[in-house]
Amino acid sequence: MDMEIDETPSSAASRLAPIEEVKSTTKQSKRIAAHSHVKGLGLNQETKEALDKAAGFIGQTAARNSASVIVDLIRMKSMAGRAVLLAGPPGTGKTAIALAMSQELGDGVPFVPLVASEVFSSEVKKTEILMRNFRRAIGLRVKETKDVYEGEVTELNPIETANSQSSGIGKTISHLVLSLKTAKGSKQLKLDPSIYDSILKQRIEIGDVIYIEANSGIVKRVGRCDVYASEFDLEADEFVPLPKGDVRKSKDIVQDVTLHDLDLANARPQGRQGDVSSIVSQLMAPKKTEVTDRLRSEINKVVNEYIESGVAELMPGVLFIDEVHMLDAECFTYLHRSLESSISPIVVFATNRGNSTVRGLDIKSAHGIPPEMLDRLMIIPTLKYTPDEMREILALRSEAENVKFDKDALNFMTQVATERSLRYALQIIAPARLSAQCSGRDVINTSDVQRCVDLFMDRSESLKKARLTQQQFSKA
Ligand code: ATP
Repeated sequence: MDMEIDETPSSAASRLAPIEEVKSTTKQSKRIAAHSHVKGLGLNQETKEALDKAAGFIGQTAARNSASVIVDLIRMKSMAGRAVLLAGPPGTGKTAIALAMSQELGDGVPFVPLVASEVFSSEVKKTEILMRNFRRAIGLRVKETKDVYEGEVTELNPIETANSQSSGIGKTISHLVLSLKTAKGSKQLKLDPSIYDSILKQRIEIGDVIYIEANSGIVKRVGRCDVYASEFDLEADEFVPLPKGDVRKSKDIVQDVTLHDLDLANARPQGRQGDVSSIVSQLMAPKKTEVTDRLRSEINKVVNEYIESGVAELMPGVLFIDEVHMLDAECFTYLHRSLESSISPIVVFATNRGNSTVRGLDIKSAHGIPPEMLDRLMIIPTLKYTPDEMREILALRSEAENVKFDKDALNFMTQVATERSLRYALQIIAPARLSAQCSGRDVINTSDVQRCVDLFMDRSESLKKARLTQQQFSKA
């Protein structure tokens, strides 16, 4: 019999959970929904100057020009150790600009918005929360070309070795021998034990026709099968069984994940399925173990191997930290150090504060940021909008939310935005639509806007009310 032993998968891959099984968590942020009309910084492709109206942006051209220079510096890898601060009044597009920077850096580049107060939790250390978000903002694009073997299973043999540390009941699977009958003869594959999980899950037996992606060890049953494309997260037309007996190259597979995704995917209880003692401990133990510094540095090592071997490309994204004055001295020290790291996202802070006390230090400083961090910042101011700009932003947002205003209602909304705030006007778009729908109309008119203004207070109105109530209470 014509036999051949193949070792699979490669050493680096075998230390990480298979990338195919790593679920990406980057698309989930509902916070970005408010900026769905923003598609980039809106630059002239030749001059790289910000256009007055482009890519969902209106005005704020000086800030967008500065952001465009930062994007160039990032591309030239000249931003190491530095961060960006967007400073300006509420609703002047600071978040939108940070998001647009990540969009300019390329498709799939992560954008992670965070409000500084979120780092304070009673359960998790603030530096741990910062670290998680740091790693969420570092993307990895993994490109693989896979050899695919297809054939009928003739032997399926888990090779067990006694677990030396156990009291005799524990057995560890050292590898799995799988023999396939293909049109070109028999093929014997020596597989990593983790593949056993996949074989167990699919109840693969002798006589089944399967195919194996050689480097990842992904096993798919195609004969006598009740396997559907959706089970593998593939489009239906991607699930094409190979011609029987063929060994061929499959197409390139590109997957975007973040370092945080890899941390989570690998934070599983240790031990393999099939190892009796570890099954017991898995039942007793919580489903996932914590992501430790050790695990993270192990992942960094493997990721570096991927990068060096050309399998993966690092895509540093944007970590956006709003209300930066809420961070304390310890957080700033931590961020300061992290910015020096060779694997770091671009950190963009935002503030609408002037001089404030730095939390944890007894000093006042610009924007509540310690002087050592201020020294590392490229500061971009954002300015208030003119009424015309506000009208155009409102029109853009209503289009994005699929909402129609009549001309007078849009004028009224612009007046509301000017007198109260753009953010307030943007907030009442959805309830105004509801008001119109309740009256059987598709188009919002001034009475809908007025109704919302009567129903909801803006920030300064609410503050006035709160102060008044407080005075009344203290008099009582
Ligand atoms: P805050 O300080 O309150 O966090 P901000 O400065 O981050 O506010 P954004 O949240 O970016 O402001 O803007 C508020 C809304 O207005 C968002 O929906 C944003 O997409 C939109 N927006 C702001 N500026 C522009 C602009 N120049 N063009 C188009 N849309 C804009």
